[in-house]
Amino acid sequence: MPEAILIDHPLIQHKLTLLRQKDTPSVHFRTIIKEISLLLGYEVTKHLPLEDIDIVTPITATRAPQIAGKKMCIFSILRVGEGLAQGILELIPCAKAGHIGLYRNEDSLQAVEYYFKAPNDLDKRFNLVVDPMLATGGSAISALNKIKKEGAKNITFLCLLAAPEGIKALREAHPDVQIYTASIDEKLNEKGYIVPGLGDAGDRIFGTL
Ligand code: URA
Repeated sequence: MPEAILIDHPLIQHKLTLLRQKDTPSVHFRTIIKEISLLLGYEVTKHLPLEDIDIVTPITATRAPQIAGKKMCIFSILRVGEGLAQGILELIPCAKAGHIGLYRNEDSLQAVEYYFKAPNDLDKRFNLVVDPMLATGGSAISALNKIKKEGAKNITFLCLLAAPEGIKALREAHPDVQIYTASIDEKLNEKGYIVPGLGDAGDRIFGTL
């Protein structure tokens, strides 16, 4: 499995450059995140298995493919994952949605779970966990620990930007989880922000700067 799969489609890269710019206002930021999430959703679902079913067209009976198995589950890591998850849910309206709420304990710097809600049968679903920023990897690792504990087996992680440090940490903790990202940035700074990055994704999506 590659360290991370880079989704370098020109449309995504162009939109990402708009997101990175500090003067892009929240109203545009949200719209662009939605547009990017549709494109990313298309890429990460490219390998979903298909099964043929019997159908009848206005002309004849035939067999045609549909996505096999139980409906996929899109997990967002709150609050920032919602920016990506909503777009992907629009692309795949029959998908189920799961939510994982985490905050960082400022003393221990560990991620603490405050909310979890998911559909049943996670072991039979393709589970897509989304968080725009893979920085230290702390919240992604905690989220994956949790959904594995709840039974999930087939899991993919999707972010917009990843720091090399976050990819390394996530790969070490969860080598079975494929990471997709639209960019591998240079590094983390001393405050844990991705460089060059796009700043605090939550603040930029929700206008809480
Ligand atoms: N979270 C963010 O929102 N931005 C970063 O650069 C790192 C983590």
